[in-house]
Amino acid sequence: WSAETIAVVTGANRGIGFEIARQLALHGLMVILTARDIAAGEEAAKLLQEGGLKVVFHQLDIVDHESIDSFCAWVKEKYGGIDVLINNAGVSYNTGSENSVEFAEKVININYVGTKNMIKAAIPLMRPSAEGARIVLVSSRLGRLNGRRNRIGDVALRQQLQDVETLSEDLIDTTMNKFLEQVKDGSWISGGWPQNNTDYSLSKLAVNAYTRLTARIHSERPEGERIYINSCCPGWVKTAMTGWAGLTSPEEGADTAVWLALLPNQSIRGKFFAERREINF
Ligand code: NDP
Repeated sequence: WSAETIAVVTGANRGIGFEIARQLALHGLMVILTARDIAAGEEAAKLLQEGGLKVVFHQLDIVDHESIDSFCAWVKEKYGGIDVLINNAGVSYNTGSENSVEFAEKVININYVGTKNMIKAAIPLMRPSAEGARIVLVSSRLGRLNGRRNRIGDVALRQQLQDVETLSEDLIDTTMNKFLEQVKDGSWISGGWPQNNTDYSLSKLAVNAYTRLTARIHSERPEGERIYINSCCPGWVKTAMTGWAGLTSPEEGADTAVWLALLPNQSIRGKFFAERREINF
């Protein structure tokens, strides 16, 4: 990894994303810190630049197709492509004790659909290299398919989502749409969905499923053009998302994503990590 290595971090104006950007830059990479809000992103990038780090800002809202397209055109023109993409941007409206689904559509649209669209747009830009390009998705243990608690009640659906060979984007989308329909008609409570942070957990379940799917789809790329795609859980982190109630610092929360991005000579793909260890999806 060198100053020629281009790393893009989404939602990097604050929290874990900012830390990921900082740590990648400390490792000597050229970091493109992105944020949906221009003023917030410029300020965050300035902080890192003042510390002598190689960081530039570009606007990127992962649910805005025009924003994705203009970001990708800019990065291609200016840097020729991307080596490391960290999909960190996300939202949660479920920090309190209430398990509200009021913002379910927004949560799934940003956390899952936005992340997926960003990855689809970025894949053609991932640069060939001996180490392989890296894509990391910042997900959550709350989205585990087979967690002892907080899982989907429908066993057949869980099995379908589990089987990576038959997993499809259509299945993931249909599952999310079914949940959103039940939110609209009020039947979601009896729908067998995760009971804790329901909409957020499902959005991250979709992120995890998409990690495995896209890793499988891109697993046959020839030597030199490989892309290693994995997801991770940062732990319960003191950021705005948790109302600063988490157990770990953003520095620690960023660690596994940075480690996955920089892991030398690896061939790990389609896996889920926390605290630098593989965990079950
Ligand atoms: P923050 O709320 O502090 O940061 C979230 C970041 O995502 C912000 O920069 C936010 O921008 C950005 N964002 C939201 N929507 C978009 C969008 N449409 N386009 C681009 N950027 C967007 O939360 P964290 O740092 O805690 O969370 C980072 C990631 O870690 C998330 O994916 C989260 O789900 C995940 N995570 C966090 C945990 C925790 O305990 N904190 C636990 C498990 C997972 P803006 O400032 O404009 O709102």
